[in-house]
Amino acid sequence: MRTTPARWVDPQEASLEPLNGFDIVVAGYGSQGQAQACNLRDCDAGEQIRVWARAEGESAARARAESFTLVGNDELAEADLILCLLPDEHHLWFVTEIAGPCLLSAGKKASLAFAHGYSLKFTELGEAVRKPPWIDSFLVAPCGPGTEVRRAFTAGEGVPAYCAVWQDTSGKARSRAIALAHALGATRAGVMETSVSDEAVVDLFGEQSVVCGGVSALLQAAFDTLVNAGFAPEMAYMECVQQLGLTVDLIRERGIDGMRAEVSRTALFGDLLQGPRIINDQVRKTMAEILGEIQSGRFARQWADELSQETPTLTRWQRAQAGSIIEEAGRAVRRRSRRSKPVDSSEALD
Ligand code: NDP
Ligand code: MG
Repeated sequence: MRTTPARWVDPQEASLEPLNGFDIVVAGYGSQGQAQACNLRDCDAGEQIRVWARAEGESAARARAESFTLVGNDELAEADLILCLLPDEHHLWFVTEIAGPCLLSAGKKASLAFAHGYSLKFTELGEAVRKPPWIDSFLVAPCGPGTEVRRAFTAGEGVPAYCAVWQDTSGKARSRAIALAHALGATRAGVMETSVSDEAVVDLFGEQSVVCGGVSALLQAAFDTLVNAGFAPEMAYMECVQQLGLTVDLIRERGIDGMRAEVSRTALFGDLLQGPRIINDQVRKTMAEILGEIQSGRFARQWADELSQETPTLTRWQRAQAGSIIEEAGRAVRRRSRRSKPVDSSEALD
């Protein structure tokens, strides 16, 4: 499958001007919605920033408490740009059943922005947004959760982001995407221009093979190996799970070689000798298969099936997690760790 050459956007190109006069509606006030609405407001992007959130949900009240004006469905027709920041599985519904009909009946056109390419690449939404009332559609995908997008912005920093154009009717989609990335603070950290397709695929591959799936399965397997051999679960947790944070921090700051320069020579020898035995050719072959399944749309079909059956796999996992040995060991370790703050009252330090 063809990939698109990716390139860094020159920060000199960044300006809020392409959003001047825009009535911007942020749809969804969750992790990304809250952060993006607040960053846009703080940098005075557009003419006004308002929020759309379902009336019965918790985030409508949160947006109101943070002094945002909420728009009803009919007022969506006033928007020049709608940021669709609902969970990916609700994008098709929101765009084709809520926002699209409102704009059409008012005879208005608008642009659409997303924070992830999943729904454009893998659902019928991709075709639906090529028709009126939609002018441009593009994505600005921050490489971090909303809390980090907001924290970095308020600290005068930024979280890197991808930007990509899906549909460009105005001839200004790219400059609007870069302006949005700039408003969110991403140009302070780096904005990489790519395609929607590549962003969607790479994001899924990263989370499945490493960041979520690969890491969780690796930690669990190593923990189980020590516990099954008779070692204390809390020892297994401290060695195989808790210490990973230090490694990841070093890799973030100084790269894999920088991390290796910090460990003992014994650890380095063990790393070089055994790492390739763990992540062997079979694992690499499996990774290539996983990438193929994402690119072919197989994974998206599996996820659509899971959603249509009310998420049986997610429910089974939630039940199995309750009281699992690894989570109990983790809670015990965190209770005793002075370095970690308790995450809720049940984990308060004793
Ligand atoms: P969240 O789950 O944090 O927020 C979801 C928002 O959508 C909430 O305001 C929620 O409101 C609302 N919502 C949920 N279900 C419905 C529904 N059925 N009808 C109407 N509103 C609903 O989402 P994220 O911020 O995590 O994700 C938003 C987008 O950002 C996605 O495209 C995601 O892929 C992308 N993204 C997310 C990142 C992250 O780290 N979280 C990182 C980069 C991109 P309510 O309170 O009413 O439930
Ligand atoms: Mg992801």
